[in-house]
Amino acid sequence: MSVDELTAQVERARQDYEALVAKGLKLDLTRGKPSPKQLDAANGVLGLSGDPVSADGTDLRNYGGLNGLPEVRAIFAEDLQVPVEQLLAAGNSSLELMHDAVVFALLGKVPGAETRWADVEGLSFLCPVPGYDRHFGICERYGIKMIPVPMTPEGPDMDAVERLVAGDAAIKGIWCVPKYSNPDGTVYSDETVRRLAAMETAAPDFRIFWDNAYAVHHLTDSPAQLADVLALCAENGHPDRAFVFGSSSKITFAGAGVAFFGSSPDNITWWLSHTVKRSIGPDKINQLRHVQFLRDAEGLHEHMRTLADLIRPKFDAVDKILTAELGGTGLASWTAPAGGYFVSLQVPEGCAREVVAKAKAAGIAITPAGATHPYGDDPTDQTIRIAPTYPELPEVEAAITGLATCVRLVASEKLLADQA
Ligand code: PMP
Repeated sequence: MSVDELTAQVERARQDYEALVAKGLKLDLTRGKPSPKQLDAANGVLGLSGDPVSADGTDLRNYGGLNGLPEVRAIFAEDLQVPVEQLLAAGNSSLELMHDAVVFALLGKVPGAETRWADVEGLSFLCPVPGYDRHFGICERYGIKMIPVPMTPEGPDMDAVERLVAGDAAIKGIWCVPKYSNPDGTVYSDETVRRLAAMETAAPDFRIFWDNAYAVHHLTDSPAQLADVLALCAENGHPDRAFVFGSSSKITFAGAGVAFFGSSPDNITWWLSHTVKRSIGPDKINQLRHVQFLRDAEGLHEHMRTLADLIRPKFDAVDKILTAELGGTGLASWTAPAGGYFVSLQVPEGCAREVVAKAKAAGIAITPAGATHPYGDDPTDQTIRIAPTYPELPEVEAAITGLATCVRLVASEKLLADQA
């Protein structure tokens, strides 16, 4: 584009932005939360019928049952790819379980460890980027050094991962959201999962934190298939390598679902040796209500199709509006995920913070730029996370149209400045 054309584009974008600000919007696309309609669709989970007893007659109102209700574990075992006897059902939050796994490993040796992680000089985790800010928050809280690794369309860059873990015994873990990743919607390829399971690590106690938060959250009729990480780890001689997490936060209620932890038999024994001191058992009544509502794996899938019908139009709107507003301009690229909760928007280098600031000034709240990277620092300042599930469709449309205006303004001003 000539300088004159670019100047005209900037001028148009400025006028559009002024018009946007004048609308006085108040919209929020910051966090991946279920919408009130999604929550309503799960209201069946509130009711409890019959006696509060498990299939084997245990009175669920009382203490006990640290492993969680077998019936709810059976519903989720197949989708989380964990044998039911190695899958525990816990409280409402899988993030809590990830946090606890880190703390238990810091304070007590994981199977295969020579020392507690708290005693490891330079303790580090690999963090595929862009990634989930709350994973990074756990590392930051406990002083675990974060080493970013780029994501590719197949998952983390495995050449980089293999090189790093082979050379440094202080690297003890990697954060993975293997299906419909947060924020770019990537599904790890079979080859990526195989390499993660098979790679040689300098640390004998290396752990994959396999956060399968979006295991059943498909937006299309052809659900993504993920290789079985626990089985592959075992086949490759590293049976204790993976910690699997999941929850029903975005299936039933985000604040009152059921969370799951799955792993090898030795890791499960280790986990229970810690949790037995922490609790006399989870909320089994909530777990029973989930069993009555979801019934079985097919009931779970049926419910997810209901939720997908509510969510899909919002993701379609994001893609349609971004294509109409920014397609072919070279000012942005974005993901069109087949599941999960997020769209990742890439803007020209050095523009993401300014786009988010401009959107905020126009009343559109977006996840802070940088949140997708360790320490909140996206070195090229390019990634913006869009979370379209919570607002209703007209609000999503207004917010994305406004966001696209901000991208046009900031990116074309940058291009003009670069040319000057
Ligand atoms: N993992 C990922 C990848 C997520 O996106 C989220 C929610 N945004 C969570 C975990 C939180 O899970 P929970 O509600 O089970 O704590």
